[in-house]
Amino acid sequence: MQVKLMHHTPLDVCAHAIRTCWQSFDKSDEGGEKDKALIDRVGNKYKHASTLEHLVYTFYISGISRALLQELARHRMASLSVKSTRYTLKELKDSEPFNENDFESASKFIVLTNNEIVDSASIKALNNLQAILKKGISNDIAKYALPECYKTELTWTINARSLQNFLTLRSSKSALWEIRELAHKLYNALPSEHKYIFQDCISKES
Ligand SMILES: Cc1cc2nc3c(=O)[nH]c(=O)nc-3n(C[C@H](O)[C@H](O)[C@H](O)COP(=O)(O)OP(=O)(O)OC[C@H]3O[C@@H](n4cnc5c(N)ncnc54)[C@H](O)[C@@H]3O)c2cc1C
Repeated sequence: MQVKLMHHTPLDVCAHAIRTCWQSFDKSDEGGEKDKALIDRVGNKYKHASTLEHLVYTFYISGISRALLQELARHRMASLSVKSTRYTLKELKDSEPFNENDFESASKFIVLTNNEIVDSASIKALNNLQAILKKGISNDIAKYALPECYKTELTWTINARSLQNFLTLRSSKSALWEIRELAHKLYNALPSEHKYIFQDCISKES
């Protein structure tokens, strides 16, 4: 799984939004320590969390399973543009069938679990799908045979308030292992000067 931060709002935009309420623009240090403390005080401690919605992050997330995608899509306060299996199954159709124990080659298309029984079953499912495609059946019909481990990628845009909610729920020990990994990678990909807004959301439990 890879996570790349493509774009983010500078902190001073959020501080400006907060200062709008008090018209205290002259107290800004343009995203410096005073503004950072203000964001933490108002957005986190005073729970005036709507101010955090002015901070928006766009990530490119790749190499995740469609099982994870299904969970990610439950987070309604975010925007997703996902690689479509309707338009991109040609890459599987054009490759060679996979040997049931050749996990490395198959990992181009599927997320592995390190459980040999499960991963071999996933390769069988991948080969089944490929055989269907090679018979000339259209993507729109063939995609119903996709295994949940099939890899996908997406552009994901989320504001800081919703990202706090996501990191709290999905870094927790009770979350699915793959989405926990994603939560940690998203946190790690954040600009260092933004991390303090989210540090209390990340579960340290393993
Ligand atoms: C450990 C775990 C297990 C789970 N198991 C299951 C499961 O078995 N089955 C299942 O279906 N889902 C399951 N989920 C998904 C879960 O129910 C949520 O859909 C998901 O975590 C998204 O959370 P959210 O609604 O807070 O996020 P978002 O959809 O991003 O919403 C953000 C926040 O906006 C507010 N909000 C959004 N929509 C509404 C609304 N309609 N009304 C009022 N407030 C709203 C809420 O405050 C919400 O927290 C699980 C989640 C976790 C973390």
